[in-house]
Amino acid sequence: MHHRLIDIFERWLYPKAFESAILISLILSLLAISYSAVLYTGGTYFAYLHLFYVAIVFSGFFFSIHGGLIVGLLASLMIGPFMPLNVEEQIMQPTHSWITRSFFFMLIGGVSGIGSAIFRAYLKEIKEKYLTNPISNLPNFLGVETIFDKKIQTINDMALILIDLRNINEIEIAIGPARVDTLLRRVAADLKNGIPGDVIIGHVQTSVFTILVEDSSRIDAVVKLCRLALKSSYMIDNIPIFVEEFFGISCFPEDDNNFSGLFGKARMAINYGAKQAKSLAKYDLTVVDPSGENAVLLTALDEAIKNDELQIHYQPKIELKTGKVYGLEALARWTHPEKGEIEPSKFIPLTERTMLINPFTKWMLERTFKDMANWQAAGKNLKLAVNFSLRNFHDRTIIEKVLELVAHHNLDPTHIEIEVTESAFSTNMPEIIKTLTYLREKGITISIDDFGTGQASQQYLFQLPIDGLKIDRIFVSEMEHNPAAQAIVQSAVSLAHQLKLKVVAEGIETEQQFKMLAQMGCDLGQGYLISAGMPYDQLLRWLDNSDKKYAL
Ligand code: C2E
Ligand code: MG
Ligand code: MG
Repeated sequence: MHHRLIDIFERWLYPKAFESAILISLILSLLAISYSAVLYTGGTYFAYLHLFYVAIVFSGFFFSIHGGLIVGLLASLMIGPFMPLNVEEQIMQPTHSWITRSFFFMLIGGVSGIGSAIFRAYLKEIKEKYLTNPISNLPNFLGVETIFDKKIQTINDMALILIDLRNINEIEIAIGPARVDTLLRRVAADLKNGIPGDVIIGHVQTSVFTILVEDSSRIDAVVKLCRLALKSSYMIDNIPIFVEEFFGISCFPEDDNNFSGLFGKARMAINYGAKQAKSLAKYDLTVVDPSGENAVLLTALDEAIKNDELQIHYQPKIELKTGKVYGLEALARWTHPEKGEIEPSKFIPLTERTMLINPFTKWMLERTFKDMANWQAAGKNLKLAVNFSLRNFHDRTIIEKVLELVAHHNLDPTHIEIEVTESAFSTNMPEIIKTLTYLREKGITISIDDFGTGQASQQYLFQLPIDGLKIDRIFVSEMEHNPAAQAIVQSAVSLAHQLKLKVVAEGIETEQQFKMLAQMGCDLGQGYLISAGMPYDQLLRWLDNSDKKYAL
């Protein structure tokens, strides 16, 4: 049953002064109408006395057993010994007749009262179900919201503390949903036992508990109690489970005047805190609305793509052995009219979470392939590498676009490379494998970007059909002084060669790194030592002066 309907029932089944006055007037009117009907139609001999049952049942329903009995008695008296059987002929009722009737009036009043009591109990039960989290038996979102709405009628200072068990999904994968329920019950019990009873504890989403505190000056004290009450690890079926608790706080009425609003803001505070590795954050104006900012950024980027406001920088890759320029990687650049330069690492992940990654990549392809046609026409035989997010492979039209542009500009597909980054997690591996295989059949080269950093790098290595890998710059930048980084680079190079893959080292900044990589047998290198990314015109000038500059 919908909770609004329950509210309506509740209002009339547990009447306050106003509702009681209306109901009593209604019952009295019904009694008066029934009495008049009996009197003016000529006495109890006629059927109208049954009208009284309406008032009796009604009272039983709304005022329980005693209501039903009182009105039953009242009705019995109204058409009792003083009401004639036949008014016109002044024949009075036989005694047994009104006594029997009185009995039935009271019986019906009582039964109606009992029926109403059963209905009330049922209503209470479904209401509780509606407002309670079945796992922990604490109030759920609607439950806490109802309590909140009631409280703010009299209180004008309240704080909401949100507790998010951030790693609940990983825990669930590790130990299964049934044990997660056990864990949640334990957390609920710890909160209930550890915090004094004058706060409202709720369990509003699987991983989220809430605490309503009257009087926001007590926030710190209550948070302290929560931290004491909650353990950082729980033993469930002899398995130790580590729980990451994050706290977010918002206050009524400063931050918002309704529960949903406060909830959203406390959530925002949590996310903001988590980004800075802080487990406690209070909502305030410095906790900017990230979704709002992102939305603005995405709209602006959409415009920028349509208006051709993005630029492309090309960064050369050279052969480490010969120093010859091998190819160019295209990197997106965005100069926002107000915000200035926005780094790709800021806007690419945003586009990946929306469908904007596809129009963006199409734009990149159009622009870079055109540039490539130009440098080919100028007699420069260089490969072009473009970056693809795994998400791109879900859109057939992007793949077709690649082939279409290759044909349109009459390019050599073996000179085109796609660097696949793992920045967006992808689930549909079989589809991606199919697409990559298709592209390779057409002659296009595929390599894995940022090798070694992504969690799935190794897995991709044996799942994806690829031609090369790029060792992430993190290892390159560390390799001079850190033997572990050096070992990783060395093993990535050998691994690549054993698998007949071409290996590129990115982020080369020093001569020393260059030398070490060349000695290890790394095929290609890229980095600020050679050159940063450059706009197309500058690139052409750079290429003219680059011959053999980097040979050892
Ligand atoms: P990436 O593909 O690994 O690109 C290499 C990044 O390292 C570039 O940063 C480049 O400027 C930077 N870099 C190059 N040499 C050096 C060096 O010697 N030292 C240091 N510290 N950095 C160096 P950028 O341009 O900021 O791009 C960041 C990431 O954004 C790229 O990483 C790539 O994953 C993504 N990205 C850029 N353009 C695109 C694009 O068109 N499509 C997609 N899907 N992703 C792109
Ligand atoms: Mg790349
Ligand atoms: Mg990279």
